[in-house]
Amino acid sequence: MFIVFIGPPGAGKGTQAQRLIELLEIPHVSTGDMLRDAISRGTDLGRRAAEFMQAGDLVPDELVLQIIGARLDQPELQHGCLFDGFPRNVDQAKALDSLLAARNTPLDMALELRVDSQELMRRMLGRKRQDDTPETIAQRLEVYANQTAPVLKYYSDRHLLASVDGSGTPDEVFQRIKVRVQSSS
Ligand code: ADP
Repeated sequence: MFIVFIGPPGAGKGTQAQRLIELLEIPHVSTGDMLRDAISRGTDLGRRAAEFMQAGDLVPDELVLQIIGARLDQPELQHGCLFDGFPRNVDQAKALDSLLAARNTPLDMALELRVDSQELMRRMLGRKRQDDTPETIAQRLEVYANQTAPVLKYYSDRHLLASVDGSGTPDEVFQRIKVRVQSSS
């Protein structure tokens, strides 16, 4: 099963993604993790991505598609995976459709985790990550509203979108996710 997992920064997507890949037994494909890995390994791509990430901006599509394309070629991803943090804009969503169509494995569902913006700010200021300053958090939320929210419409137009309420405890949220995922598989 190929699933796209979408949600604003701070929605608790990381925690839920971890549980979901264990439930479905599929690999986790997080562009944020892959980019941070490229930066820590000091690759050319990592060096080019770093400035955008530090500013809370999207890394250029060309770089993101380069790592996603390479990852999709790995045999362990043939039967499914959870895309986390990708696609982040409509062009990336279209590119993913082409990549999956070329492999005859179209996307099965797009799962949205919804949390209101006050709660997001509160949650993000409570965690410690190097790119979490009030300025970059505000910037990432704005990028989400401007560039990623249209991806939800893209999938809803294609009848692939399932939206889940991300408020409450991690267990409560995961219960809602499970119901949606199991009813579509
Ligand atoms: P969060 O969901 O908390 O913003 P991520 O780890 O998903 O964290 O992303 C961190 C940063 O990595 C983003 O702010 C962005 O700069 C970059 N990034 C991750 N995925 C993408 C993507 N698909 N397209 C462009 N930039 C990305």
